Amino acid sequence: MTALLEAEGLARHYAVRLGGLLGRRGVLRAVDGVSFRLDPGRTLALVGESGCGKTTTAKLVLGLVPPTRGTTRFEGEALPPAGTAAWRALRARMQMVYQDPLGALDRRLPVVVQVAEPLAIHGGLRPAERRERALAMLAQVGLPAPLAQRYPHELSGGQRQRVVLARALILGPRLIVADEPVSALDVSIQAQVLTLFEELQARFGVAFLFISHDLKVVRQVAHEVAVMYLGRIVEQGTPEALFGDPAHPYTRALVSAIPVVRRNRARVRIVLEGDPPNPIAVPPGCAFHPRCPVALAACRSEVPVLKARGDGRLVACHLAHGEAAARRPAA
Ligand code: SF4
Repeated sequence: MTALLEAEGLARHYAVRLGGLLGRRGVLRAVDGVSFRLDPGRTLALVGESGCGKTTTAKLVLGLVPPTRGTTRFEGEALPPAGTAAWRALRARMQMVYQDPLGALDRRLPVVVQVAEPLAIHGGLRPAERRERALAMLAQVGLPAPLAQRYPHELSGGQRQRVVLARALILGPRLIVADEPVSALDVSIQAQVLTLFEELQARFGVAFLFISHDLKVVRQVAHEVAVMYLGRIVEQGTPEALFGDPAHPYTRALVSAIPVVRRNRARVRIVLEGDPPNPIAVPPGCAFHPRCPVALAACRSEVPVLKARGDGRLVACHLAHGEAAARRPAA
């Protein structure tokens, strides 16, 4: 089957000023060689701490920022250069949903008008037809007609996120990139919106690239999870594998921080030591080695490659593959 979305070796580096009298410059490696595939109607979650490169990856696959190197293919074709007519036509099939629905909506317009807007931009329908379709789509995301006439500030956070989803879906996209779509919502509303994501996927067959720092959230919606650290994927697999038996020490630390709700199921929290990641000063070898509780001598100089472990998941850790070079504990 042809992948809906394929990223191959995507990287995005930025030249930055480091300050000082000599005006030193450095390179910020926001994303540094990310590869994955997403099949139609599936959900791939990108997770990791703030600053790990999740959002930049999302912008790269949509063509919103150009890559320093690497390629993105959508339905088997290379992504056209941003701003071209071919790219604009493709964007109707690749939509984005942001964290802050209020910021994504125009406070001066009723929501039904905003949901109909993409139909006006892409042409082909009369105003009454556009409005009818917008009302139908708002009903599909659980927003009844009386609420459709309201302005964004008259709706709750959950209702606004439904409006944003309706606007993203109105052109029948194959892919929606959702960047922290529920992190601004109350926990009770989060569950409802996550269920809506699942229902919409079943109804429309849309694929989601779901970005979140919250592992609890992705556990509910993802078919596959990729954990990012300092611009790279360090582990990728099904939620069952990652949450049940995390292989990478960083994933283990993230999973250990998820609260356990069942009685008699305590989990020992792994607290990572050392500084939070700085993408301007990526450590040599394994970028995680200064914080890794099980680092070995070789981890300081040898970059672990993301590769299959034989149990259906990909891991970038010397220990996960038992590499001979990485046997000696760090001093
Ligand atoms: Fe830890 Fe070494 Fe594995 Fe990196 S490669 S996660 S430092 S054990």
